[in-house]
Amino acid sequence: MINYGDVNAIVQKYALVAPVDVKAIISEIGLTYVERDMPEGESGYIEYDGWHCTIAVNAHEGPQRKRFTAAHELGHFMMHRDLLKEHRHLDRLFDEAANRNTARPLDYHHEVQANQFASSLLMPKATIKRLLHEGINTIQALALKFDVSKLAMEYRLKTLGMLGEVSDARETTAAE
Ligand SMILES: [Zn+2]
Repeated sequence: MINYGDVNAIVQKYALVAPVDVKAIISEIGLTYVERDMPEGESGYIEYDGWHCTIAVNAHEGPQRKRFTAAHELGHFMMHRDLLKEHRHLDRLFDEAANRNTARPLDYHHEVQANQFASSLLMPKATIKRLLHEGINTIQALALKFDVSKLAMEYRLKTLGMLGEVSDARETTAAE
């Protein structure tokens, strides 16, 4: 049973604690989370038939990628579920496989939206501000707190215009 009415409240509640527990959000909303044996390059998928929704992630990926993929698929449920009915939406989100992500039955803009949702879900602005205030002021330390990759953390800080508030921004940029 999906708790459509409470979805936003559930997300808000979990966003206060780092690392954000994506699996708990998914199950509290009433969706099913599974890890599947999937080919390399495939990150996960979402299936929704109007009654049940399954979010699957590739069991062979690392924990941080699984979290990002689960959050991306949750974004599709939150914003695009009416477009998904009867179609499995498969995602390739990382490395060069991401260039071959076909997005069907969605399009490129939906993918951007789902990535933005995942980024703000896993790294909520208010929580970043609180941690910075508490003296956690490197990309590395923040990434550890949120259990995300350093690249994802840096990208999020850049998007928020907050790269100036961490002490290791330049070093990380130079290393790329
Ligand atoms: Zn997607």
